[in-house]
Amino acid sequence: MLSAMRWILPALSASALAFLPACQGPQPGVRSQASVYGNRPGPQGFHTVVVDAGHGGKDHGARANGLVEKTLALDIARRLKAELEPDFRVIMTRTDDRFLELDHRVALANRYPDAVLVSIHLNHGRRWRSGPETYWWRVDSYSTARRMQRYLAAACPHEHGNAGQVRRRLRLTRNPVIPCVLVECGFLTSRKDASLLASSTYRDRLAGAIARALREQRLAGDAGMGPLPAAIFAPPSRAGDARG
Ligand SMILES: [Zn+2]
Repeated sequence: MLSAMRWILPALSASALAFLPACQGPQPGVRSQASVYGNRPGPQGFHTVVVDAGHGGKDHGARANGLVEKTLALDIARRLKAELEPDFRVIMTRTDDRFLELDHRVALANRYPDAVLVSIHLNHGRRWRSGPETYWWRVDSYSTARRMQRYLAAACPHEHGNAGQVRRRLRLTRNPVIPCVLVECGFLTSRKDASLLASSTYRDRLAGAIARALREQRLAGDAGMGPLPAAIFAPPSRAGDARG
């Protein structure tokens, strides 16, 4: 609670107070001010999805069981693009094997204020851990994350020791000013996950699960997801933060 107050006060003085004198009807800028912390309902009726394939170029990400995270992340991102394209405008942060700073990915996503960002990764950990995990931070990202974890878990025949849906302040879950979710599609370090992830059929299934969650979120917003979590007014995530 203390840390929440620490960040709430500067936020009020710096941004919210600026809009207090004129609160008659919608005003330009208010929406983006509110979305700095993501303390608003989840998106509904959106048409743009920013698909971020994690890592790339000199940054290989995780490597295990003959698989490389940056390659699989791009492959799943491409499959997701194909899944979504009939219904959504899809923006890819990278379409080939190139290195992009995390802050650059955030800046790219912020160019699309009405979009939802999905960052695609593959996990690593103890060999017995398997299954998908979904990371989120902002209140406006909660329902999308919940749907993604639900459908990814349904696509995975064996979950063991995975954390499921996790609220964590990462550069790609905290810093964008749009709803944003980071999915870990499985553990490269798990033999079971790795043999599934090596199959294009399974990667299609994962892309289908993420697309299904986005379609449902677009249609229903937060309906059916229960009460939204409380906002946490934390500062942006910076290089050097855990898994930031
Ligand atoms: Zn990663």
